[in-house]
Amino acid sequence: MPELPEVETIKRDLEERIVGLKIQKIEIRDARVIRGISKEQFTKSLRGQTFTDIHRRGKALIFDFTPGKKKLVVQLMMTGQFILAAERQSDKAVKVILALSNGEYLHYNDQRLFGRLQLVEELTDIPYFHGLGPEPLAREFPKHKLTAALERHKMPIKTLLLNHRFVSGIGNIYASEILFVGGIRPEKPACNLISQEVRRLTKAIPQVLKAAVKARGTSMNTYRDGLGQRGNYLSKLKVYGRQGEPCGVCGAKVEKIVLSGRSTFFCPDCQR
Ligand SMILES: [Zn+2]
Repeated sequence: MPELPEVETIKRDLEERIVGLKIQKIEIRDARVIRGISKEQFTKSLRGQTFTDIHRRGKALIFDFTPGKKKLVVQLMMTGQFILAAERQSDKAVKVILALSNGEYLHYNDQRLFGRLQLVEELTDIPYFHGLGPEPLAREFPKHKLTAALERHKMPIKTLLLNHRFVSGIGNIYASEILFVGGIRPEKPACNLISQEVRRLTKAIPQVLKAAVKARGTSMNTYRDGLGQRGNYLSKLKVYGRQGEPCGVCGAKVEKIVLSGRSTFFCPDCQR
């Protein structure tokens, strides 16, 4: 599932290449990925529009068009991909194709159809954005807000990291990695973190996510960047998916546990 670093990589790839281009034609191969409006309305609203900007908020991509026009908001969820290519692709996973004014094609692919494409006036029209937590890559990452929020939660810190109201964009892979870098045991109740651990955590969140963006994300399964390439962070993962392997720092065996139904990885010596 794409997390913040993967969505940010796609955003940067597309920003460079499609801003200023017009959507000339829209081909919808499976309308189930379009939510809230009919495929006819979707096509009518987008045809002839020019991309003016692309943003990311949490794990969502937001495409802007001429002022006054609706925004296209895309949540990739489990297996969504955006692939820009010179040729029109006809893979089974391709659900929507936008033919662009430079002759290229922007494909929205989604094997499992959990992703969602929506056209909205305001982001608040979509429940995901209600109460969405702070943005870890923002220049002003509000550490004090996180500190206050930690005190309010008894749940394991790993589980809280996955809550997008606490902090946006973190999924199962980076939650384990952040806690390893912060030297914090994943099952520790959030409210029991001592001030040193809170400092290490608020430092590790942007540090790990920025390093992953730099490596263009982690390709565990279906994630591909905006050009269809795999990310390079998989080999840099310290604990995620590495149970039984020696920790790169201390040599102890990486362990796997399940917290709130999600696989969680940690080093029993580095994380106490
Ligand atoms: Zn270790």
